[in-house]
Amino acid sequence: MSLRIVVCVKYVPDAAGERRFAGDGTVDREGVDGLLSELDEYAVEQALRIAEGSDGEVDVTVLTVGPEDAREAVSKGLRMGADRGVHVEDGGVHGSDVMGTSLVLAAAVEKAGFDLVLCGMASTDGAMGVLPAVLAERLGVPQVTLLSEVSAGGGAVSGRRDGDRASERVEAPLPAVVSVTDQSGEARYPSFKGIMAAKKKPVVEWDLDDLGLDADGVGLAGAFTEVVEAVERPARTKGEIVTDEGDGGLKVAAFLAGRKFI
Ligand SMILES: Cc1cc2nc3c(=O)[nH]c(=O)nc-3n(C[C@H](O)[C@H](O)[C@H](O)COP(=O)(O)OP(=O)(O)OC[C@H]3O[C@@H](n4cnc5c(N)ncnc54)[C@H](O)[C@@H]3O)c2cc1C
Repeated sequence: MSLRIVVCVKYVPDAAGERRFAGDGTVDREGVDGLLSELDEYAVEQALRIAEGSDGEVDVTVLTVGPEDAREAVSKGLRMGADRGVHVEDGGVHGSDVMGTSLVLAAAVEKAGFDLVLCGMASTDGAMGVLPAVLAERLGVPQVTLLSEVSAGGGAVSGRRDGDRASERVEAPLPAVVSVTDQSGEARYPSFKGIMAAKKKPVVEWDLDDLGLDADGVGLAGAFTEVVEAVERPARTKGEIVTDEGDGGLKVAAFLAGRKFI
């Protein structure tokens, strides 16, 4: 039996580069170096492992919602081994909050066709970690979040969720939405064969019209939350250097006491 997996991958500003806000309080994504959110690589990896371990036909689609550059997130998923890509790009998506983003993703997942949706545990920029749950609610399917181990087959998805004091074994019938943690298994590097093969893989581009969505329901217009102000953290100042002349301990204690730490 065939299994259609859609992996949601997000294109995020590179944490190693310069990141900034635009004047309207939104994240400035223009001209900023970006990449596939590292935590989403684990979701791609799990999809590929399910495909490799299956006797049946498994189709892996990587899906992103984001501006033009976000296509790189799809390309990376294809280089890793996914079969096809979907890139939803529309100016109206700018400034979407989790409700808007999930609305667009749900429409795209439905249009692509799915049995299983895989997500990362959180994006490395927004880091809310709630999108998979909202997406499942919109799709009307079970959600199994934060799995450290995943398997799918026989019309169900199952796995292990590790907590601080206990590990749970959980299972849900398909179709379902699953998010995986960074403990689920090291993500592979694209091989030379994978890089060459990715060039020929199909990537469809959809906008809000293609998904039958109204621009009023997404973007800044449809956002439930608004960033009222975004202020950069002040640059770190040089710390106070305590020179030890036999009385270093006393000086450190006086410094801490002065700030009411002790
Ligand atoms: C075009 C665009 C413009 C945006 N503009 C703003 C803005 O101006 N200000 C602001 O604060 N936020 C903005 N966002 C971010 C958006 O509000 C959040 O990213 C979104 O609500 C999801 O929350 P999160 O990133 O914390 O995801 P989480 O809930 O932490 O993500 C969990 C998982 O959901 C999946 N996922 C999340 N987002 C996407 C996506 N876009 N495509 C595919 N998979 C995804 C990934 O698998 C991810 O690992 C924008 C997003 C997009 C796509």
